[in-house]
Amino acid sequence: MYKQELSKDCVDFINDANITDLIKNTKEDTGQVKEIIAKSLDKKPLTVAETAALIAADSEESTELLFETARQLKQDVYGNRIVIFAPLYIGNKCINDCTYCAFRKSLRTTVRKTLAPAELVEQVTALEDAGHKRLILVFGEHPDYTPEYMAETVRQTYAIKHGNGEIRRVNINAAPLNYDGFKIMKEAGIGTYQVFQESYHHDTYAKVHPPSTHKGNYLYRQDSLTRAWESGCDDVGIGALFGLYDWRFEVLGMVTHSRYLADRFNCGPHTISFPRIRPAHGVELDEQYLVNDRDFKRLVAILRLAVPYTGMILTARETPEIRREVMEFGVSQIDAGTRIELAGYTKDGEQELNKEQFEIGDTRPMDEIIMELISNKYIPSFCTSCYRQGRTGEQFMEFAVPGFIQNFCTPNAMFTLAEYLEDYASAPTKDAGYKLILDEVAHMPNEKDRISAVTHLDEIRKAGKRDIYL
Ligand code: SAM
Ligand code: SF4
Repeated sequence: MYKQELSKDCVDFINDANITDLIKNTKEDTGQVKEIIAKSLDKKPLTVAETAALIAADSEESTELLFETARQLKQDVYGNRIVIFAPLYIGNKCINDCTYCAFRKSLRTTVRKTLAPAELVEQVTALEDAGHKRLILVFGEHPDYTPEYMAETVRQTYAIKHGNGEIRRVNINAAPLNYDGFKIMKEAGIGTYQVFQESYHHDTYAKVHPPSTHKGNYLYRQDSLTRAWESGCDDVGIGALFGLYDWRFEVLGMVTHSRYLADRFNCGPHTISFPRIRPAHGVELDEQYLVNDRDFKRLVAILRLAVPYTGMILTARETPEIRREVMEFGVSQIDAGTRIELAGYTKDGEQELNKEQFEIGDTRPMDEIIMELISNKYIPSFCTSCYRQGRTGEQFMEFAVPGFIQNFCTPNAMFTLAEYLEDYASAPTKDAGYKLILDEVAHMPNEKDRISAVTHLDEIRKAGKRDIYL
């Protein structure tokens, strides 16, 4: 095992006893809930205690108010874009032994594979042919997957072009790195580096990650995105795996983490993920803490209110029905056309669980998901502008500055959707997509912006121009 570095003044910012006390001793108080909701509508991040107050407000009446507020925030403040991405599993070898994961080292029946260079080309080409522009590369933790290797994979991915297809943003979900590792990843031009804490609760963490393994070091993982930031990766994603421990604890853990990063770097995490644990090959799920649908919806709405500037990612672990419902509460990114089997994007047929990390809930093809979003008046966006314009970290959070969405996000969403419609969409999706775009243009408040949008859309449709962004 290599030496695990910690950041200079690294502290463990999670105090289990305090969080447990907050959960136990905070009671529903409808007056306070209304005050907190007003604060959220004002886009002010909530404190951990305020988040606990929302968690405690479990009555039907408060829950309805919470859902309504999350919907309103989504609609009024963040607009109707949904950013589309796809995960690409590069390798599933792993030296860790996480009890919930089909890639854990002690599970001999999992088929191990790392994409060969030619397979990487095939997979990325298939993703480009489906219309993707943003990928997240996923790795197990293994001595083969060094930072140099991962960085090289990122560079190769950017270099693969097919027709009008290209990947314009590569995010990473992989093991925590030391300072040098994060620097190497930054130099390769990554977007977000995601590390999920899995469980913020220390005893649970130790139970599911054997302490003898690399991942067994709770603090090294908790500190990882601080190291990432200090190495120049100012775009980081946090997350917890829901179902390992009490969801209320994990929500408060994530809010604590978010506030820690915000206090330290003047900017919180770029994204927050809230995967629910899924059935997986060779995994026996402990059902005690599995999160039911009602609680899941509540936790998503609570997170939306608690971290107003942070992008929220909802993955294909969830079924189409749940995705539809939960999206309303302020989700900003979803994956589409997802396959998580190694080399799965060039394969038809059922999921083969002994080759996958877990079973996914939404296996619909990309075009079907795009069509559904459009029918529900969301603008699917393939925009990668901010990161390429250097609008990251302190200068940029998904929803930061007033006017930002109007000036950048909505036009860029329309331009990238138009590219998708021209190059990849089925005829009905193309038809519905352009209707939505025209409707959006008609509602742009500023005439100059309207004219500029129409000009750019014409360049895409009539002159075949691509990659227009503001
Ligand atoms: N190996 C790296 C690590 O552990 O950080 C990369 C992460 S793993 C390939 C991606 C994420 O999948 C994990 O962080 C975990 O939260 C999630 N995951 C693992 N097993 C899962 C399961 N059975 N159901 C849902 N999500 C799971
Ligand atoms: Fe390995 Fe990550 Fe799976 Fe744990 S969650 S076994 S570290 S791939």
